[in-house]
Amino acid sequence: DSFEALGIRESLLTHLRGKMRIQKPTSIQKLVLSHLLSQWQGMDKDLFINAQTGSGKTLAYLLPIFSRILSMQTRVDRKSGCFALIVAPTRELASQIYSVATMVANCCHYLVPCLLIGGERKKSEKARLRKGCNFIVGTPGRILDHLQNTKVIRDQFSHSLRYVVLDEGDKLMELGFEETISEILKIVHGFTPDYSTFPQLPTRIVHILCSATLKSGVKKLGNVALKDYKLLSN
Ligand code: AMP
Repeated sequence: DSFEALGIRESLLTHLRGKMRIQKPTSIQKLVLSHLLSQWQGMDKDLFINAQTGSGKTLAYLLPIFSRILSMQTRVDRKSGCFALIVAPTRELASQIYSVATMVANCCHYLVPCLLIGGERKKSEKARLRKGCNFIVGTPGRILDHLQNTKVIRDQFSHSLRYVVLDEGDKLMELGFEETISEILKIVHGFTPDYSTFPQLPTRIVHILCSATLKSGVKKLGNVALKDYKLLSN
């Protein structure tokens, strides 16, 4: 049940141990990693991760996504496209996820995350998007705003997007983001990626919903956002 046995890339592991001081996977990481790393070539299923903050859920979904990107023969850089969209309910949480993604990305300097949150200057976000990024982390309203109004974000997504993560789903619902998320998903599902470009990545968009609770609100979000999914609880 080590990271090696779960199939995490060597370069990522060296970085985890050396720079991030992370040795062994937590229980939710074992479950999520074995699910997201063992499913290849169109077999990828959506996931509902029921785990508390502090359980290591952020790395549970980030590590397999990074690992699969690193497994590609094609060398990717910030201009290759955006592979994952991570939606969080608050600026604070989005910033936390972004800093974890930045730490992980430091093992491969050519992968770049980008933070899109309300309150930031939109112009500087646009400028960063124009330079290219491989992961977007943000709050629902600002992500939708860019999807609707920033052409460059659509260009970066439409051929490469493979993962949509909704983090703290219970909070997303409590804060009334259901409609905004439906709009985001509608736009994203309208893309027609060329799945032959990155054959090591899923051949569909994989949706991942995280929530500390299984209250009715978040179950409803699950029905909106997830297709045939697997529930993983720690
Ligand atoms: P999270 O549940 O994603 O908010 O993570 C909580 C904290 O656990 C963060 O500070 C992580 O850096 C840390 N963490 C995540 N995975 C591990 C692990 N496998 N071993 C030790 N610490 C971890």
